[in-house]
Amino acid sequence: LKVRGAVFVSSETDLVVEDLTMDPDPGPGEVLVRYGASGLCHSDLHMMERPEMPPGILGHEGSGTVAAVGDNVAGIEVGDRVVASFVPSCGVCWHCLRGETQHCEWGGGIMGGAAEGRYTRPDGTKVGMGLATFAEAAVLPQQLLVKVNTELPVEQLALIGCGVTTGAGAVLNTARVTPGSSVAIIGCGGVGQAAVQGARIAGATTIVAVDTVQSKLDIAMKLGATHGVLAGSDADPVDAVREITSGRGVDYALEVIGHGATLAQAYAMTRKRGVVVAVGLGAESFELPVRDMIMSEKQLRGSFYGSSQVATEFPRLIQFAESGQLDLGLMVSRMLALEEINDGFRAMKAGEVIRSVISYG
Ligand SMILES: [Zn+2]
Ligand SMILES: [Zn+2]
Repeated sequence: LKVRGAVFVSSETDLVVEDLTMDPDPGPGEVLVRYGASGLCHSDLHMMERPEMPPGILGHEGSGTVAAVGDNVAGIEVGDRVVASFVPSCGVCWHCLRGETQHCEWGGGIMGGAAEGRYTRPDGTKVGMGLATFAEAAVLPQQLLVKVNTELPVEQLALIGCGVTTGAGAVLNTARVTPGSSVAIIGCGGVGQAAVQGARIAGATTIVAVDTVQSKLDIAMKLGATHGVLAGSDADPVDAVREITSGRGVDYALEVIGHGATLAQAYAMTRKRGVVVAVGLGAESFELPVRDMIMSEKQLRGSFYGSSQVATEFPRLIQFAESGQLDLGLMVSRMLALEEINDGFRAMKAGEVIRSVISYG
């Protein structure tokens, strides 16, 4: 099977869009999915900037349609719509049995199997894949796909695969925001905008969006933020949040960027006994004022993939979208052809977009 794909070659060069050859026949337990759309996520950019990253096909936020299934595949049929999940779960390990599928003990091995060299480049070299949503099609273990019953546009469904689940899940599942509470969200890209909407869905009455880009704050206000704080200009975000909350700080603060400095800000803008949630991947460490944490009884939580059980969380988020409570359309800033993928990453770096989404038409 010939498929178009964007191949990562090195951190020094753009992605190379070319015709790839792949074996389309799914083996036992595998599924051939034709992607309809793929979002461009900051995590892809982080990987592309790592010099030690081997050549391959990136992309982990995708949705599409099942084109073939192998033996021993249950519950997924040709023609089904699916959203890809980058955290597979086996369903039977210690964590899966406890409803913590994001920590499946075999998930890494399942993903590793999907990463074998499935695609052949025009020069004959083979490249591997994870979900490989930057290619038109992929053969994946069925544990990497969640079947969804919905008429939502495929570009909106793609965002469920990473950004929306990570952001809304951090609010709904990790922080467990309660009605009437106050929430601050630092970073208003795709994940942050989903967190803003999660806070609105949870019934938070004060939702403070913090970003350095005014246009992202404008969208956050449309999606449910009650206050926008333009960081890096006049206002110190911590002071601004304290001012909004009668000097006490917010009940919940989420850091969605992945910097130690902004995580420290999130901690500082949280009230006594409040909850700080680290969502953004990137900071290796930050200085935690332990004495203050003890005296204030603040809690610091990590949130991976929105602490989500994707098999139930993807359908739940889709229902929020179908009922009008979750606006995915406003999060899709731009639709791109695969050939425009490098410009999409340029726009991401420039802070011009919430999400660019590749359409495979
Ligand atoms: Zn992502
Ligand atoms: Zn498991």
